Amino acid sequence: MRTLTELVCPHILKMQAYSSARSEFKGKASVFLDANENAIRTTYNRYPDPLQVNLKQAIQPLLEVQPEQIFLGNGSDEAIDLLLRIFCVSRQDAIITLPPTYGMYKVSASLNHIETIEIPLEADYQPNVAAILAAQNERTKILFICSPNNPTGNDFELKKIEALIQGFNGIVVVDEAYIHFSTQASCIKWIDKYQNLVVLQTFSKAWGMAGIRLGMAMANPKVIQLFNKVKPPYNVNVLTQEYALSQLQDLTVFEQDIARILAQRKDLAAQLSTLKFVEKIYPSAANFLLIKVDQANLIYQYLVEQGIIIRNRSTVLLCANCLRITVGTKEENRILMDCLKGYLV
Ligand code: PMP
Repeated sequence: MRTLTELVCPHILKMQAYSSARSEFKGKASVFLDANENAIRTTYNRYPDPLQVNLKQAIQPLLEVQPEQIFLGNGSDEAIDLLLRIFCVSRQDAIITLPPTYGMYKVSASLNHIETIEIPLEADYQPNVAAILAAQNERTKILFICSPNNPTGNDFELKKIEALIQGFNGIVVVDEAYIHFSTQASCIKWIDKYQNLVVLQTFSKAWGMAGIRLGMAMANPKVIQLFNKVKPPYNVNVLTQEYALSQLQDLTVFEQDIARILAQRKDLAAQLSTLKFVEKIYPSAANFLLIKVDQANLIYQYLVEQGIIIRNRSTVLLCANCLRITVGTKEENRILMDCLKGYLV
């Protein structure tokens, strides 16, 4: 196994991190004349806490991780981009992705001039462990695993994920954006055991806070230190930190939302299964359903004309004629179903 030092880009290891005014000082003070803020105003005139100490303290008991094992970013998309910049040398290194999967791994890699090696999932949408491990070489630095996977909606078997973490000679990122809708356990429990594991979660899905842009990476503290070294100094703004903190005080709404979404998912799947043109509804461990239909493009277009937007995934590998539908409110799902029933006529 390559050590962390062997995996990190040499220029990242060497570089001096930016030291922000607020991160240099640790202690008690009441007069802040260090950051060129507007001292006259009293709200939102100060820069945010660069390391989001209070928010991490509130997250710690929920995920059973230490604050030094958490990175918080401007959505988990920021964590994906930073991982590429920490570990992959532009025009030299590569990542492995498992299509069909979340598109940003490849987009972020392209943006950073990093090659993406794609090892398709098997027909049952599980990873092909032997093929993935056989594809690695000294240039492949990161393997992106998404479980539950977007757009297929299924969990990857935990023993396959663990075999990949153990067998991949690089960083394994397990993106758990949809984990709260799954019955499968999170891989966070393995971050002490595996130094090469990074688990991503987000406040955008079950937490219902896509608008505030807050994502997390959990990993061993050495990896988190690298995130902190390369991240923009004030990457999570004050409003986001305050709002997330307020939402973490009481988890009742969060838990109720999940239960309601799961009930709606079941209901929507049952209703969709009555439609003649729906050939298959894939089992979902997420807050969306992937369905195979007769003539996906026509149905997609028909729904657009009715003002209903779903995701047409029919051009994606292994997803011919597939549509991805987010589970909405009871009312939204009813409107969708009424429309789809009309399509038959
Ligand atoms: N990972 C997956 C699998 C996703 O589907 C998404 C959003 N669609 C993200 C990450 C990005 O989430 P965020 O809003 O935290 O940037």
